[in-house]
Amino acid sequence: MSRQIERWIHEWQDRSDEPVCAYVYDLEGIRNHVRKMLESMPEQTRLFYAIKANPDKRIIEALLPLVKGFEVASIGELLLVREVSESVPIVFGGPGKKDIELETALEKNVAYIHVESLLELRKIVMLAKERKRHIHVLLRINLRTNTLPQTKIAMGGRPSPFGLDESFIEEAIALLREEGNHYVHFAGFHFHSLSNNLQAELHAEMVELYLRKVEEWKRSYELDVQVINAGGGFGVSYDDTPGFNWQRFTGLLAESEAVRALGGTRLFFEPGRFIVADHGYYAAEVIDIKQSHDQWFAVIRGGTHHNRLPASWGHNHPFRVVPTDRWPYSFARPEISHASVTIVGELCTPKDRLHTDAQLESLRVGDVLLFEKSGAYCWTISHHDFLGHPHPKFHYITEGD
Ligand SMILES: *Cc1c(COP(=O)(O)O)cnc(C)c1O
Repeated sequence: MSRQIERWIHEWQDRSDEPVCAYVYDLEGIRNHVRKMLESMPEQTRLFYAIKANPDKRIIEALLPLVKGFEVASIGELLLVREVSESVPIVFGGPGKKDIELETALEKNVAYIHVESLLELRKIVMLAKERKRHIHVLLRINLRTNTLPQTKIAMGGRPSPFGLDESFIEEAIALLREEGNHYVHFAGFHFHSLSNNLQAELHAEMVELYLRKVEEWKRSYELDVQVINAGGGFGVSYDDTPGFNWQRFTGLLAESEAVRALGGTRLFFEPGRFIVADHGYYAAEVIDIKQSHDQWFAVIRGGTHHNRLPASWGHNHPFRVVPTDRWPYSFARPEISHASVTIVGELCTPKDRLHTDAQLESLRVGDVLLFEKSGAYCWTISHHDFLGHPHPKFHYITEGD
């Protein structure tokens, strides 16, 4: 893979004076990765892709034949998926859904709405009745437990704006059973309690806890549960820590009594990061190398306005140097070797930093840095227009490339 990208970088520099600045998405890599994920999933499970991790249309198109459907969290995401397919199942979550979003969800035939509050449920009941549209809902629950794994991003098992507090389930069920409601159908529960969990064992335990909880509620409220959506949150390691072991996770699920006892109930997963992170690259050319107070800095064409993840998480983003021959000037090409270098972007803020004190054997102006693991929550979370630099190019690697 990186060979192909390196070749593409060299071709860019051969044909253009413009410094390299691009996202490269390996669509074939994503597809192969998802095929592999599906192979080990127990038959009761289904895979959705949470498009907020990377809503690039080409990625959605590439995944369409493989995944069961897509998770969306806004009207914009919903319509984007509907541009790609009129009929693929959509699950629609997110706090603060507006009336117009709920109406659109009804019109565009989403498979399930994830209910985030009692008020939202009342609105869905009202709108569905007005429009005479049937809709299935999953109640998103924030568990009252402190036994969930704690990761950098946690949405459940603690006070949070997401989902219904566990103690409101009874009221939600009562609302759905009110006489006037003929259109909104209870289908099950949704949980998404954390993001970037690296531990397969803890994740499997968490899913088992969800299943046990649902079993309790089923009995207490005499519910017919068709779907349990266990969310996403499978982690990607940006340093030397081992990544999430999917085979181990699905192996544990396959052995789990609670999963076997599901019967006809379907267990959904809706990862974002884990599906796309490893198959996106951010390539940026080195524009300047300078020393300041005994510290080396390399300035790239690009920065955190394109790839905000390292600034957002305060981590050093992994990258490789792609050496190139680009040097069109008559004066000496700045070069450093065996140095510790901080990689910064082109923005006028000290926050524009992608990697601090990288140990590099060699770096020259004109070389290109290839930031790996840039497929998820990188471009999409960035402040693209801050300072008005041109956006990066987007390049896709497809089958046969
Ligand atoms: C963001 C989100 C996901 C995807 O999370 P990842 O950590 O990228 O797997 C899934 N479900 C919901 C409800 C989300 O908000």
